Amino acid sequence: MNLVLRSTRVVTPEGTRPLSIAVADGRIAALLPYGAEVPPGARLEDVGDDVVLPGLVDTHVHVNDPGRSEWEGFRTATRAAAAGGITTLVDMPLNSLPPTTTTAHLRAKQAVAQRAAQVDVGFWGGAVPDNLADLRPLHDAGVFGFKCFLSPSGVAEFPELGPAELDRALTEIAGFDGLLIVHAEDPGALAAAPARPGPAYADFLASRPRGAENAAIETLIAVARRLDARVHVLHLSSSDALPLIAAARSEGVRITVESCPHFLTLTAEEVPDGATEFKCCPPIREAANQDALWQGLVNGTIDCVVSDHSPCTADLKTPDFATAWGGISSLQLGLPAVWTEARRRGLPLRDVVRWMSTGPAELAGLASKGAIEEGRDADFAVLAPEATFTVDPAELHHRNRVTAYAGKTLYGVVRSTWLRGSRIFGSDGIGAGVPGRRLFAEPPSGRLLERTS
Ligand SMILES: [Zn+2]
Repeated sequence: MNLVLRSTRVVTPEGTRPLSIAVADGRIAALLPYGAEVPPGARLEDVGDDVVLPGLVDTHVHVNDPGRSEWEGFRTATRAAAAGGITTLVDMPLNSLPPTTTTAHLRAKQAVAQRAAQVDVGFWGGAVPDNLADLRPLHDAGVFGFKCFLSPSGVAEFPELGPAELDRALTEIAGFDGLLIVHAEDPGALAAAPARPGPAYADFLASRPRGAENAAIETLIAVARRLDARVHVLHLSSSDALPLIAAARSEGVRITVESCPHFLTLTAEEVPDGATEFKCCPPIREAANQDALWQGLVNGTIDCVVSDHSPCTADLKTPDFATAWGGISSLQLGLPAVWTEARRRGLPLRDVVRWMSTGPAELAGLASKGAIEEGRDADFAVLAPEATFTVDPAELHHRNRVTAYAGKTLYGVVRSTWLRGSRIFGSDGIGAGVPGRRLFAEPPSGRLLERTS
């Protein structure tokens, strides 16, 4: 044993209870009674009444490195993750240059990540019109699945799949029982929507209607059913699609779905005109839509909540919603944002853990992550759930401190984050005797993850 982490509130699959977690060689060796004697040679870390959660798993992060590292990089993104209680992230295949569409490109990204990752990092591959022959090699090289768009992605080097290309890609992926994760907005429905540029949020919202999501999800359900393939809907905003997804699943279609902190905690009604830090696609919708998304979480239709952290430099957030870069950066704030809203709705922290740790780990097939259970990695977030803080952009660790959450008061302060039994972040600093206030462990100890199942 190297470490015993003790708390009156440890969130396990069996419930929240007082426990001492014994850690050996980076894994959870045993869950001992709260007052168990500390084994010889082990160090006791008693966090009192702070809650110990399994480290969060964020399967939707755009790190943009290499190539657009002025937008975000592995060092800054993984620091923000660690400060937000996230111990594993899976990087999206686009917005970096090159995009992750060949094994050579994957190796290039892994080389950059390896040097800088404060948390564990895995990769999604990309499915684009011209890389059908690269899908199986990428799968064999360890990507967790493949992302595609059905409408323009926003970057020229990552084109969307047309209907025939979607069919071919999904046939290929189903051949090795891989997973296709999809940005689901229908290009025809988007083209038919009114497009009025400018600073008015209502105009932007009208340009990305719920119907575009609903139509794309219907397309996806039909093709997944026909090919008996595994598909996953990224960043669901339209609650209208929940009954479609639930019905498809009940008849055996292999479809899962995620939503994001911004859809669950911010509303269209509160977005000021010109405030493009709130712009993302699909967009943040009305409060009534948000209520329905929460119902989808509670009834289990929505499997996970992940950040879709998608930053850019501040200058790209122009005040025109039509041309501003779309993306909301919330690696560091997702847990407190979702917990604050869950708490307001009377939902327990263990639900948040299911949506933000266990669910995403299952999506990616990460059997060693996502729960506090004997044999899994000793990855933890220590949270003071009743403590509050007000979001100050200066305290954020991602590269460009643009945020839609500035000034919000949130519940849930991440006191420390642990990766394989080592503290990688401490809100009050780590490392005894180190001058100054060093928040993160050095050197970074994140590892590269590859799909194992
Ligand atoms: Zn995204």
